[in-house]
Amino acid sequence: MKHYRACNLCEAICGLEIEHDGGSVLSIRGDKDDPFSQGHICPKAVALKDVYEDPDRLKSPVRKTPKGWEKISWRQAFDQINQKLAPIRRQHGRNSVAVYLGNPVVHNYGSLIFSRPFIRALGTRNVFTATSVDQLPHQFAASFMLGHSLLLPIPDIDRCQHILIMGANPLASNGSMMTAPGFERRLRALRERGGKVILVDPRKTETARVADEHHFIAPGSDVFLLLALLNVIFEKRLERPGRLEKFTRNLGALKAAVQGVTPAVAEAKTGIPAAIIERMACEFAASGAAVCYGRMGLSTQAHGGLCQWLINALNIITGNFDRSGGAMFPLPAVDLTGGKSTLGKAGRWKSRIRGLAEFDGALPAAVMAEEMLAKGKGRIRALFTNSGNPVLSTPNGKQLEKALGKLDLMVSIDIYINETTRHADFILPPTTGLETDHYDLVFNGLAVRNTAKYSPVLFKPGPGRLADWQILKELTKRLTPKKSAFASLKYKLKTPARILKLGLLLGPYGVWKSPAKFFTGLTLRRLKRRVHGIDLGPLQPRLPGALLTPDKKLDVAPPVFLARLGEIMTGPGDKVSADINEFALIGRRHVRSNNSWMHNTQRLMKGKGRCTVMVNPADAKNLRVSDGQSVEVSSRVGKIVLPAELTDDIMPGVVSIPHGYGHTGKGLELRVAKAHAGQSINDLTDDQIVDKLTGNAAFSAQIVKIRPAPKARK
Ligand code: SF4
Repeated sequence: MKHYRACNLCEAICGLEIEHDGGSVLSIRGDKDDPFSQGHICPKAVALKDVYEDPDRLKSPVRKTPKGWEKISWRQAFDQINQKLAPIRRQHGRNSVAVYLGNPVVHNYGSLIFSRPFIRALGTRNVFTATSVDQLPHQFAASFMLGHSLLLPIPDIDRCQHILIMGANPLASNGSMMTAPGFERRLRALRERGGKVILVDPRKTETARVADEHHFIAPGSDVFLLLALLNVIFEKRLERPGRLEKFTRNLGALKAAVQGVTPAVAEAKTGIPAAIIERMACEFAASGAAVCYGRMGLSTQAHGGLCQWLINALNIITGNFDRSGGAMFPLPAVDLTGGKSTLGKAGRWKSRIRGLAEFDGALPAAVMAEEMLAKGKGRIRALFTNSGNPVLSTPNGKQLEKALGKLDLMVSIDIYINETTRHADFILPPTTGLETDHYDLVFNGLAVRNTAKYSPVLFKPGPGRLADWQILKELTKRLTPKKSAFASLKYKLKTPARILKLGLLLGPYGVWKSPAKFFTGLTLRRLKRRVHGIDLGPLQPRLPGALLTPDKKLDVAPPVFLARLGEIMTGPGDKVSADINEFALIGRRHVRSNNSWMHNTQRLMKGKGRCTVMVNPADAKNLRVSDGQSVEVSSRVGKIVLPAELTDDIMPGVVSIPHGYGHTGKGLELRVAKAHAGQSINDLTDDQIVDKLTGNAAFSAQIVKIRPAPKARK
């Protein structure tokens, strides 16, 4: 039997063809008839079978007891959680309970939809999500420039002629903040039609191998490259905003802001020769269909917000915004912006200890541990985590572990006992991907083509199994005061599929918007019939209509960015270290890994160990370190020991460690992951180093010391 669905493991949402016998998976292939992915998959898709069959996966709720984990019924779990939660909220207030939503939540429409009412019912301001260790700067820039944090410009990769990629490795990530299954094929097609690919990164990544040019850049200095590119364009009068000019404000302020950051200034900061910077700017401006795209390396650094602002500004002033081949705006079948601005949703409250501001209702994850540890009114005493492993994925993971141990109550919705959930009092395991239906609410909004696909349930969950949304719904119900019979019934009838049905009906392709399309408009029923998905066409210009700023203008230089830029331009310069043991740390990702997930599947983890420290051979010589030798990497917050991997692919003065590893704690029941434990980069990253503008964790460019590990020292 064949089943068709979209893979929900990463942003690429590839179509899958799954052969099965009604109870187990026989094979997983790319769905050649999927109009978007056209048969592309990566090795992770096949591992969906492993997750479904994983003997380490929890299938019923468990409670921690002095003797170990004890299986309990769902009713016992919900009752006992409620009994423990109620006095905490009563005595210490709503903010004493925190929530952390991990990255998988956005890959699961049921969990995404039902997390919101749960947080609302808790009424807490201590909400943390994986956004602030990832793409928050993109959303921050979109909110202030365009009026909504989800109005995100996406490279129109299939029609552009010139792409400048900064701090991104889409060949490993399969595209990120750019849903583009088969990214390598798309990049090769760009080059075959005479286009150019330039990559700027402190590491010669997998993507560098298919680029026309690769330039090393000093980690954390990208903001100066972007300022200089804009400077050259203004100085040489190459700016051509075209039709955007009519509805763009603050062009003059932008021009003034970049004055003085010449290519020579940028060369001193970035290490990229001024002549190359000048040429890059001129080629970009002359292309006619160019796009600049920056990802993790730019977002997760101290100037992440400024970088994402300047990328948008570069695309805008060259007219490469909202036009074919530039940065464009998808029109998904379910519009998550709801037509309402998010402009006021920033800084409405601040974290208790460090005073970092909320954005879109969440505080930076970097403050989570201190909010649990620091005594006093407002301390976090209880935590709910949903599909997250912040011990491995947020900075200073060891401190967070310590903090989790101080909680009065911790509840985790998760299928695994992992580095984070092992600290929980209760673990509530949901069904997995193949046992749930899915529609991608988020990543269709970041896609390089408009498509829609509904994934039905493949294997009906057995008795006593609950989906994430059912767990959240039950937790919410118990927090909510008695409602009227009508309200209770309404809530009871709410399911992700019913909400999706409504979203499609009211969406841009739905019958509601154009009754003339009564027989052809997009409905859930019609979507279900098209098992391979529906192609809704290439991206189309959407501005100024889609802008959600109060005056319907695109702000190319919002004051909040100008103020922060002023601070970094007038602040003290970078300290130059003469210590040959000091290096700038960057992360990295591998196509067979997905943050900290998918590490308990043998088919993905086998082979040469990937958790190594990449060191340039010239640096290794100075350090007297050989390939494979254990080295100690240390920072203010901790130290780890890993094998060195000597490679010219890493820039001198920089070292790289992948994230998501470190499956070494006691009480873990992840047999495969433990066998490939590695060490966590976040036992080194400092929670005190954040992007001051957005609050995003600044993992990239933190300074670490390297030396041969004690046993290996001569
Ligand atoms: S690229 Fe992403 S969506 Fe596609 S198969 Fe791999 S993990 Fe799944």
